[in-house]
Amino acid sequence: MSASLERRRFDATVIGAGLSGLTAAIALQKEGVKTLLIERRSTVGGLCGTFELDGHRFVLGCNDFGAGLERTLQALGVDVEFMHPSARFYLGDERVDLPPSAKTALAFAVRPLAVGRALAGAKRSSVRTLGDLLDGSVSDPFLRDFIAILAWAVLRSPDDVELASLRELFDKQWNYGYDRATTPIGGPQHMVDRMASRFVELGGELLVDCVCHGHERAGPAHLIDTSLGEFESAALFSSRGRWHEYPSSSRSGLEAAAVFFALDPSLAFPEGVHTLGCMKRGAADHLRALDRGERPSVCSFHVFRSDLREPEGAPWTISGFVPLARGTRQLDALEASSVLAAIRERLDRAIPGFSRAVRYEKLMDPASYEARFGFAPLASPRVPPRDFRRLPTYDPASDVYWLGNSAGPPGDHAGAAVLSGWLAARDAVARLRSKRSDDSRMGEATHAH
Ligand SMILES: Cc1cc2nc3c(=O)[nH]c(=O)nc-3n(C[C@H](O)[C@H](O)[C@H](O)COP(=O)(O)OP(=O)(O)OC[C@H]3O[C@@H](n4cnc5c(N)ncnc54)[C@H](O)[C@@H]3O)c2cc1C
Repeated sequence: MSASLERRRFDATVIGAGLSGLTAAIALQKEGVKTLLIERRSTVGGLCGTFELDGHRFVLGCNDFGAGLERTLQALGVDVEFMHPSARFYLGDERVDLPPSAKTALAFAVRPLAVGRALAGAKRSSVRTLGDLLDGSVSDPFLRDFIAILAWAVLRSPDDVELASLRELFDKQWNYGYDRATTPIGGPQHMVDRMASRFVELGGELLVDCVCHGHERAGPAHLIDTSLGEFESAALFSSRGRWHEYPSSSRSGLEAAAVFFALDPSLAFPEGVHTLGCMKRGAADHLRALDRGERPSVCSFHVFRSDLREPEGAPWTISGFVPLARGTRQLDALEASSVLAAIRERLDRAIPGFSRAVRYEKLMDPASYEARFGFAPLASPRVPPRDFRRLPTYDPASDVYWLGNSAGPPGDHAGAAVLSGWLAARDAVARLRSKRSDDSRMGEATHAH
């Protein structure tokens, strides 16, 4: 990197304005740390946000949160309101509502022995994964499908979902709050835009359309090489992740095709529901088949409301994901239209009149999704070997705080990403303060001499 007299200096620089970077940047700036936040795209939010396709706005990925996010944003002073919708799943033709409706509660109440066996199985030390649990302790088809929802939510085979990681999802230590679904009123883009505004109101500097090409240490500072010039920073945060340090035996989870529908305003989504999932019976085996690279004929999928504020009378939109067989990166036009037709046909049964109300539809296979957004539709970017311990956020060798789901608090979800940003900022503020007081002590000592 070339030396420049005009190189601007910051106390902290955060690469990437996704949820983890935005959280870190606000938390730093709130503590008076002069922070630069750079984002390669023209919008903030990363996997969380909206985009426009042929005149319609759609949610591109992350959409459903835990109540922990709501608490964190409140503590950071981000002004966003939330609602607490329910989720609905069709396991074959059987309907499950979460939180449980009376009908769903009854479906469990009539299976006391099967439920008891499953709970006892989950406590056995030999049962490490959802796959172990299903194979050893759950034969009831309804319960098997219900348990498979947990694997489906992270797009993995049940054999790749550790029970320990599910316990962490609801652990008080992390306080993710996924037992209470939370979605921002106005949609995910509104939420991340409010986060960016809060950062700027606090005095932070946000640069969009700014690609970080690399960084290196220069004495006590970091030099950051970007498409908009070079910056110098005492502390450096990167949301590009520590994925490169995962064991080579780590695989990814399953990739998904994204589906987008714009619907006539005369059609209503089920009242109070945000996410609607449809799985064929035998969902666990279905996920295992996908993991082996087999292409089943009937697809399972979920869709969710965009929750955007559209003008009166304008179509409203839903987005969704269809898990694909391992290794499927592209679907040809015929495959794409048969997936869309299967979804329409299934949703017609869940939401009568769905097909007739479709004004626009699009399927994006993993390759086109990645080409458009720069990241893959992968809910689980790496499934590490069983005994792999997640890396810490701070790496003393590079002196970089790695944000997001590759390091820090457990979980492959937005709650963990946000918490990684929060904890890294807290750690860095303490480090910067102690460095400042060391420097000022040294300054005083030099002055006294
Ligand atoms: C399809 C999908 C759906 C999901 N749905 C949910 C959900 O409903 N609920 C949930 O809790 N979790 C969900 N997740 C997980 C959730 O989206 C992630 O945990 C979270 O968004 C990660 O945030 P992040 O800031 O760490 O990373 P990202 O969102 O990937 O943000 C990283 C940012 O860094 C920027 N960047 C990268 N490289 C550079 C560079 N060189 N220079 C400048 N900027 C750069 C990127 O453009 C991006 O904006 C989903 C994930 C996927 C893939």
